[in-house]
Amino acid sequence: MSQESFITDLRALARDGRRVQATVPVESFGRLVESLLEPVGTMTFEFQGERDDEGKLYVDLSIRGDLVLQCQRCLEAVVWPCEVQNRLLLIRPGEALPEDELENDEIDALEVEPSTDLLALVEDEVLLAMPLVPRHNDCEPPVKAGVDEEISPFAVLRQLRGKV
Ligand SMILES: [Zn+2]
Repeated sequence: MSQESFITDLRALARDGRRVQATVPVESFGRLVESLLEPVGTMTFEFQGERDDEGKLYVDLSIRGDLVLQCQRCLEAVVWPCEVQNRLLLIRPGEALPEDELENDEIDALEVEPSTDLLALVEDEVLLAMPLVPRHNDCEPPVKAGVDEEISPFAVLRQLRGKV
């Protein structure tokens, strides 16, 4: 499947209540790959469009996939089970947000052009959800340094006091 097929009119999708579901190789996401230790596996995503009684357009987006990140403690691979669920309110570029939506943390507003690259949107959401400092729950640094004690401001302070 080519990337072109994921460029769609998101507003029309929402208006018609349509659904787009796909599984693509992780390596399809150029920017995401840069944050990964290994670009392996697949990502599955789904866009479900909805038009509410007031004519507002929404898309429920869900993304799932296991991504291989680098543990920032032991520097080995750590699998991050990515799971994103987001409800997006579609607005036109430059359109003001309705007041009640501003107070609703559950919903993100998304400015959409007539054609939206779904892959880029998925990629943005995954990058936002990604842990800044990925780590195993339980692991050791690769090289055991001679200094076990972490250098804390208090240790420095103690040292300074010792010298006076
Ligand atoms: Zn680790």
